Amino acid sequence: MPQEIAQDLFRIKVPLPETPLKYLNAYVVRSPGRSLVVDTGLNHDACLDALLKGFKKIGVDPDRADYFITHLHSDHFGLITRLAGENTRVYFNRPEAEIIENWQGFGPMLAYIETNGFPLDRLKAALKAHPGSKFGTDWVPPLQMLAEGDVIRVGDYALECVETPGHTLGHTCLYEPTHRLFIAGDHILAGITPNIQCWAEGRNPLREYLASLEKVRRYDVALVLPGHRRLFPQFQERIQELIFHHQERLDEVLAILANGGLTGYDVAARMSWDILASGWDDFPVAQQWFATGEALAHLRYLEDAGRIQRRIDQDIVRFYRLT
Ligand SMILES: [Zn+2]
Repeated sequence: MPQEIAQDLFRIKVPLPETPLKYLNAYVVRSPGRSLVVDTGLNHDACLDALLKGFKKIGVDPDRADYFITHLHSDHFGLITRLAGENTRVYFNRPEAEIIENWQGFGPMLAYIETNGFPLDRLKAALKAHPGSKFGTDWVPPLQMLAEGDVIRVGDYALECVETPGHTLGHTCLYEPTHRLFIAGDHILAGITPNIQCWAEGRNPLREYLASLEKVRRYDVALVLPGHRRLFPQFQERIQELIFHHQERLDEVLAILANGGLTGYDVAARMSWDILASGWDDFPVAQQWFATGEALAHLRYLEDAGRIQRRIDQDIVRFYRLT
């Protein structure tokens, strides 16, 4: 059942089968002209069914709706392939459109994670089973690029694009100044911390993420509309908690490296994780993969900050603390 958050603004909970996230929050701004839908769900029947039922309940015609996708992850982007029609506008960001245009499969990412100590045979099996690759998008509709400061006007709402790289390279939130609403995608969540992962050399996603948190801190926000879990009013407090969380994680990684060099995979195995498993070896391989990406984001941050350095031996990267 769609929940009315404000006049003509609704949340539809879209179930996410086979993922630990449970559901995605799709937001609909209803208008007698064209309505706007923010984020969609996986390319999966259950997601399509939930969205279409929701649209029907609130009187939104999918053929007279446009879409804004906060970022490329399949739980937000995947279903657009089945929703977009000839007259549909799909708003997206340039950095991630380029990822789609230049996509060469998972090869480069696998090579990167292998040099960081991950057992590759296990990873290949996990990739095949991962809902992101199973329920991703096979066809991509034409995308309209939006950037910082661009405004989408729907009914009484003027939604302003706020670029927030970190969770992904081109992640973009929407801010509505009159209603003081912040549609956060996966930039700011309550109850869970957004994944910040590093999957390529030359990037520093955690530094980008922390900068994006600092950037939005000054916004006047009465209610946060996140991509998952509950809506919440504590905007500044949650930003502060997320910054603190990553500072603690950085300290933890430094402590783990106190006794010598380790690969990103080995660091991940020693970090503490909020997951129901008796130990690292019992983690599902997909969780080990995410954890390694998260460890690498923190290692990269520390490396760029001059706190640690890498040594490469037989194509394997190990990180060492600088004292
Ligand atoms: Zn998400």
